[in-house]
Amino acid sequence: MKENFRRHSLCQARDTVVSIGLEEYRAEQIFKWIWQKNAEDFSKMTNLSRALREDLDRRYSIAGLEIAGLVREGQGAHKYLLRLEDGKEIESVFMREGRRRTICVSCQVGCPLGCRFCATGLIGLTRNLYAYEIADQVRVIQKAVGEKCTNVVFMGMGEPFLNFVEVVAALEIISSPLGLGVGRRHTTLSTVGLVEGMEALLRSPIRAKLAVSLNFADEEQRREYMPAARYNSLLDIMKVAKAYSCEKEMVTFEYVMIKGVNDRLSDAKRLVRLLRGIPSKINLIPYNEHPRLPFRRPADQRIEKFYEYLLNSHHTVVIRKSKGQKILAGCGQLSGKA
Ligand code: SF4
Repeated sequence: MKENFRRHSLCQARDTVVSIGLEEYRAEQIFKWIWQKNAEDFSKMTNLSRALREDLDRRYSIAGLEIAGLVREGQGAHKYLLRLEDGKEIESVFMREGRRRTICVSCQVGCPLGCRFCATGLIGLTRNLYAYEIADQVRVIQKAVGEKCTNVVFMGMGEPFLNFVEVVAALEIISSPLGLGVGRRHTTLSTVGLVEGMEALLRSPIRAKLAVSLNFADEEQRREYMPAARYNSLLDIMKVAKAYSCEKEMVTFEYVMIKGVNDRLSDAKRLVRLLRGIPSKINLIPYNEHPRLPFRRPADQRIEKFYEYLLNSHHTVVIRKSKGQKILAGCGQLSGKA
């Protein structure tokens, strides 16, 4: 089986072309064809000589992800089931809102962290994605919708800090002007609060935005619903989040509101106490129900009350409009069954 050239980062591509006797700039030409011009084989690369195209074709493939399923929703959300080279499948979501075109990518096939309210958690982990498989979700969906993506969020299947090396390499392709050209400040990594990973991102030169899927301001309750919280205390998460907000980008805290679980005024008060002194924004996400999970979305009135309490406590807070929930494309609804 031929090696897939798409697996190469730009650096690796340069080394590879030099190792087969070509000039280094050829790597950039090929990279652009693969990531920007959607070339499906080397024969389309018309600024390479015919002999070179044939030689590359003998050595490499440039296979990308395949669209195996698509569900559209009227509100501008599309959910894609994408097939990987080894036949495994993942889901990614495209959302259109105003001028913003956001693609929500997966970084793992499934997820090992088992948050109780999340459909992805139910399926467990199959494997990590390679960098090119993460970046290719953006390319394939852009091509399918015929629109340029403006924002990329790592909020699909999986936890980015459990696959950090590949996520960083994917960010290189996504943000490179020779790759997909989405600005670093328009990319967001969302984590359940893995402190080690947050620290690594803080220390790295990467300028991506950071979102923490907080959901509970009470330590015990958080541990009950989110097993990863047993090893990552709220105190430690807050310390790194504060440093990230002060030194890099303002952190967003995501709070999935679940009926009768974390939607009381007392929960809002606890949240305000927890976030005191941390420059941040709060995204309230009314729970997206899933047929395989028993949890429910709170009533609008309840959500409004919670929201107003946070607002009156001088927090920047938005209620995230639920996009894609009818097609099970909302936060926490991806389970590989488009
Ligand atoms: S919420 Fe995120 S970390 Fe938790 S199980 Fe779902 S995908 Fe994994």
